[in-house]
Amino acid sequence: MKDKYRMFIDGQSVESSSGAWSPVINPATGTKISDVPVATREDVDRAVDAARSSFRKGDWSFAPPVTRSGVLLKLADIMESKLNEYAIAESMISGKTMKQALNYDIPYTIDNIRFIAGAARVFEGQAMKEYVPEGTSAIRRDPIGVVAVITPWNYPLMEVVWRAIEAIAVGNSVVVKPASLTPITTIMLAEDLKAAGVPDGVFNVVTGPGGSIGEYLASHKDVDMIAFTGSTEVGRRLMELGAATTKKVSLELGGKAPFIVFDDADVEAAVQGAVVGGLVNNGQDCANSTRYYVHSSVYDKFRDGLVNELKKVRIGDPFENVDMGPLISASHRERVEGYIRKGVEEGGRLIYGGRRPSIQGHENGFFLEPAVIETDNQKSAIVQEEIFGPVWTVLKFETYEEAIEKANDVIYGLGASVWTKDVQRAVKATRDLEFATVWVNEHVVVPSEMPWPSYKQSGAGASLSIYGLEEYTYIKHVYFDISGLKRKSWYYQVYGEK
Ligand code: NAP
Repeated sequence: MKDKYRMFIDGQSVESSSGAWSPVINPATGTKISDVPVATREDVDRAVDAARSSFRKGDWSFAPPVTRSGVLLKLADIMESKLNEYAIAESMISGKTMKQALNYDIPYTIDNIRFIAGAARVFEGQAMKEYVPEGTSAIRRDPIGVVAVITPWNYPLMEVVWRAIEAIAVGNSVVVKPASLTPITTIMLAEDLKAAGVPDGVFNVVTGPGGSIGEYLASHKDVDMIAFTGSTEVGRRLMELGAATTKKVSLELGGKAPFIVFDDADVEAAVQGAVVGGLVNNGQDCANSTRYYVHSSVYDKFRDGLVNELKKVRIGDPFENVDMGPLISASHRERVEGYIRKGVEEGGRLIYGGRRPSIQGHENGFFLEPAVIETDNQKSAIVQEEIFGPVWTVLKFETYEEAIEKANDVIYGLGASVWTKDVQRAVKATRDLEFATVWVNEHVVVPSEMPWPSYKQSGAGASLSIYGLEEYTYIKHVYFDISGLKRKSWYYQVYGEK
């Protein structure tokens, strides 16, 4: 890792115009990895100007899809050749296990890029046709312009790809502001995009605090669209900021996934799925299973199975052979611990974990054992609010209707899963659950070809799939007169006679 990583504006690595730097901390050790610049408003202006001029110039925005696609395929090849380097950096900044970064995050992100590169050549829509007798109508899909992309810390590289690579694949130019805790792999991506052949100004990165630099970027008069992944709270604020110039706002926000285990479920499979669904990414995934609703007839078996499996989870240095690394920061760990205390105060029973494990040589890392809380208080904060850490609730239900009602009883609508062998019940549940992704006998899987959309206060819009690319386009109706008449047949309706 380098001592310093610079921002990326108009194809150049640059420092902040103020000269200020901010440290990036390794959550497994609590020590500094590198420094990144703290952008000023002038830096943001320069990045937006570069994006605007590259968009106007048209080398990228008007290039045929095959050209952009070729560059993105080259990027995927470059990243594949640096798989280890990316995985090390991603693991070091976020605390995710090297096992996950190397086998899942980075290869999956590369697959996302290859899918996006192919999908960018496929524009779908209504057929060109004479929908009125004297003219032919057609649909165009055009890029929107300059997109401000603001990303979170939990999947630093993947979230940038899901937003910014989709945006540039269809011809937009972007200014990315990554999370302050995890900016390094975004900067690496910018450098590799240049090597792959993306023209200067198309992909820019500014680093700095969301509350100042993020807000300034999102409200910039020359930004046409905001693509944001992060908390529901900040998403609401960005909708407000976008309103002043009616920017298009695409949001991927918080989640609180239910995991429903019916009486006929394969309980052992459900337990395995529950550990993985809850634990993936150190329990900091927007789709983590967090609320286990279990039928009373299999409740004890599921709960005991979950606790027994959790005892096997190895917590420690992400670069060792472990299943779970640290949480992202000291303050985040305190927030998560606060929820555990609140859950108990509100009637829950802590039946596993929730303590700080002692990891030799990593005493200053932000480690926390996953916590399981049994409760029947559906209105408790630990059931209702996104904790974004490994704190799971287990709740009993008796009827299908009760399970669905309680699963839907949150403001979020991102992911949900049902565990049953009954096909009719499974299909009915996929209809009744107010969540944008519903898994049956599985949790978390999202192929590049399928959308990652949102219901309710989990956001608006989608990533991945062809829907993800459409997000970054305007649809335009173009109309050609084919009659050649001086006075078309309908003009009399406005003036003169038929
Ligand atoms: P966050 O606090 O909302 O921050 C996300 C990004 O927004 C960061 O870059 C942050 O900058 C920036 N930001 C903060 N306040 C801002 C403001 N007022 N104006 C403009 N930008 C601002 O979220 P996080 O803690 O990084 O990530 C966790 C959240 O992301 C969870 O809620 C999780 O569910 C959600 N998430 C959702 C999805 C999905 O697909 N739906 C995927 C991943 C994560 P700083 O880092 O400088 O604060």
